[in-house]
Amino acid sequence: MISREGGVEDWSKTHSSPLEYSKLALINFAHRCKKDASPMLYLPCRTIQPVESTKYLGVIFDRNLNWKVHQAYVVEKGAKWAVQIRRLTRPTWGITPKFAKQLFTSVALPRVLYAVDLWCTPVNNKYDGPKMVGSARAIKQFTSVQRAGVLAIMGRLRTSPTDTLNASAFLLPASLTIKKWCFRAMVRMATLPRDHPLHKPVNWKRTCSTKRHRGPLQVLANTLSMDAKKMEKIPSTGWNPSKTGELPFRIRIPVDKEALAREAKNASKEIQVFTDGSAQGGKVGASAILIRKDRPDKFLHYHLGPEAEHTVHEVELVGLLLALHLIGTERCSATSCSVAVDNQAALKAFDSELRNPGHHLAREILQLANRVQKRRSKRKYSLTLRWTAGHIGIPGNEKADRKAKKVASGLSLINELLPPYLRKPLLINPSAVLRANNDALNKEWSQDWHKTERGKRTIKIDSTTPLAKLLKTLSNKKLSREAASRLTQLQLQHFLLNKYLHRFKRTDKANCPACSKDKETIAHFLLHCTKYVFERWALVQQVKKRKKDLTIEMLLGDPELTLPLANYINSTGRFKVKQDEYPQIGS
Ligand SMILES: [Zn+2]
Repeated sequence: MISREGGVEDWSKTHSSPLEYSKLALINFAHRCKKDASPMLYLPCRTIQPVESTKYLGVIFDRNLNWKVHQAYVVEKGAKWAVQIRRLTRPTWGITPKFAKQLFTSVALPRVLYAVDLWCTPVNNKYDGPKMVGSARAIKQFTSVQRAGVLAIMGRLRTSPTDTLNASAFLLPASLTIKKWCFRAMVRMATLPRDHPLHKPVNWKRTCSTKRHRGPLQVLANTLSMDAKKMEKIPSTGWNPSKTGELPFRIRIPVDKEALAREAKNASKEIQVFTDGSAQGGKVGASAILIRKDRPDKFLHYHLGPEAEHTVHEVELVGLLLALHLIGTERCSATSCSVAVDNQAALKAFDSELRNPGHHLAREILQLANRVQKRRSKRKYSLTLRWTAGHIGIPGNEKADRKAKKVASGLSLINELLPPYLRKPLLINPSAVLRANNDALNKEWSQDWHKTERGKRTIKIDSTTPLAKLLKTLSNKKLSREAASRLTQLQLQHFLLNKYLHRFKRTDKANCPACSKDKETIAHFLLHCTKYVFERWALVQQVKKRKKDLTIEMLLGDPELTLPLANYINSTGRFKVKQDEYPQIGS
């Protein structure tokens, strides 16, 4: 078309598709050392000037592909979002910390970290050394963005240290957040089906080991070292919609436990199969037992592998697959069969598009059930999948449960007895991989936090940090936003008393304004000040009930003392005078 006379211009006119030149950008990608001027593009009606950077699909591409322009854009966007959250929540009023955090993680973070796997490389811990390996500058910038967000969530003072803020809000530190997002992007790419253009480069063996001239994909694959080939592939299209609802079996899910017990009792099917899955010691296994009158019981079991690669949902589906295989291999099975499953999600999966992690097994189950149905006489054969609550004393179910527990520890069968689909290694479940990675990141964070000075100090008050417990306590409905902010400031030892204010030169004296005797420290205000004895009485009574001494660690560490403590702070009236000054100091 380009070589044709008149070219694209004529074509666009005759086909009512006018060309939008304002959206056309010319960029000459070059090595970062190359500073030559880029050539211009001459079109019949105009000349296009080359640009240094341009936005495409929400990401700003620059000439040297170092992503600096996009990183600056991210910082700007992050600052805007932090301001938006601060409009809803202030130290003295606004939504509770829990909802503010939810807003930050579900709305602000996805916008700020959009396509993070492209413009940022997570820090690599493989090599020891003073210099971080990865996009250190971008991570530093993102740290400041996240800090602004957490300050808004927790209603804390701007002198608060970032690591303590993250620990109390239970928000992963910036470098780990980026690692988590990049890992998620990589897992997502690893699940792409064969017909996707990215399938080949992601699954290519050399993608991980490329040493020179690496693109973002190679860098990511090298940093996160994941075997994409073993990952389950999620199909790009759903299960044939014309076949939805046309299942080769009936599904029964009783409404309540009474109906369930009644159905279990009345189940007069000739063949009854019970399935169960179990996870023990970090490993998972599934089993199925076939019970038929006047015949010996038949067992099948399968060990899936470590819990970090498989989910409970998947185990139940494997159990179902084993059950169908047992029914398929049964002789003279032109009769009614029922399979008892103790997981509703596994049964409900068949009504969906079958495009979620683990659903490759559900597709296989449907195919196997169809094959079994075709072989049987339609008049006599029927198959029902029935939900049954586990551990309610149904003998078959208990047997299957005992077997599954044994299998979980690693017991396996010879391949020939298993359904053909399970004879080769089972694909890794992306959800399980993500969960295992999140656990590992939380562990890494906790270990790092406990090593720091501030972490050691916080552990004395609450040994469980970082944990979502504090955020939950502070989001109590009975607690006002102002009281929640005061309590978080107390936790952090950045509390607006004269000792603290004097340190930042906000007051002339560090002495207590009530008794003027001692310096106004947190211990003085909470435990010793003689002017607040009357107000402190209720708090002392609460502590006495627990048969403990009144200490700062006790007051801040026990979640049940949160309300009495907030009442004490309120009743002293210490902060009422300074209400007008508060926002200037706190914001
Ligand atoms: Zn005092």
